[in-house]
Amino acid sequence: MRLPKVRELKEAIKSLFSPAYTSDFPRKPHIPYERFRGRPYFHEEDCTGCTACAQVCPAKAIEINDEIKGALAKRKLTVHWDICIFCGQCQANCLTAKGIMLSREFDLATTEKREDLKQTIEKEFVLCESCAEPIVPYDQYVWVAKKLGPLSFTNASLLLFYLRSIGLALKERIHPGPGSKPAAINRSTRIKTLCPRCRREAVLKS
Ligand code: SF4
Ligand code: SF4
Repeated sequence: MRLPKVRELKEAIKSLFSPAYTSDFPRKPHIPYERFRGRPYFHEEDCTGCTACAQVCPAKAIEINDEIKGALAKRKLTVHWDICIFCGQCQANCLTAKGIMLSREFDLATTEKREDLKQTIEKEFVLCESCAEPIVPYDQYVWVAKKLGPLSFTNASLLLFYLRSIGLALKERIHPGPGSKPAAINRSTRIKTLCPRCRREAVLKS
């Protein structure tokens, strides 16, 4: 039988009299270290609905569904915790840096159904004021307008959203609602919020 090396014996004796390196989980709650990558959560107020997180997710754990039915025009963003690999790419590449953030939750054991392990948020779409087609989520438009500040005044659509975000433009003025009749495109249409197709037409006609 080989005798233990002196160094190993020393370590064994030392560990007998030192506190445990592991936590007492599950008897006591375990608090992971500060930068631990746990379950990601959307933070609705900071998310613009831009979908950048879904595009960079290597596990395809973020699902995007655009629902455009009659009076409904919204984008649904769902993070599936059963597919997530906790890599943190969504948080690192989030447009606002706070729209989706990893928590320190690590204990995902549950009796819930797998398909229930998810979080879904919804974002209202901006609709074209001419044809009522969805353009981008409203929060994304406002985010861009605020980011540009006075520079957004060079773009009619962004200007309207900027004014709306500071309470100087009425919602109805710039949001006709889904299912509205397409408005005639003329010179004055240029100062409305338009989808790329109607914008091209308005520019050509003016
Ligand atoms: S942590 Fe990684 S796998 Fe999980 S949702 Fe974010 S990008 Fe996808
Ligand atoms: S704002 Fe962030 S969390 Fe929201 S859709 Fe864009 S990248 Fe994802």
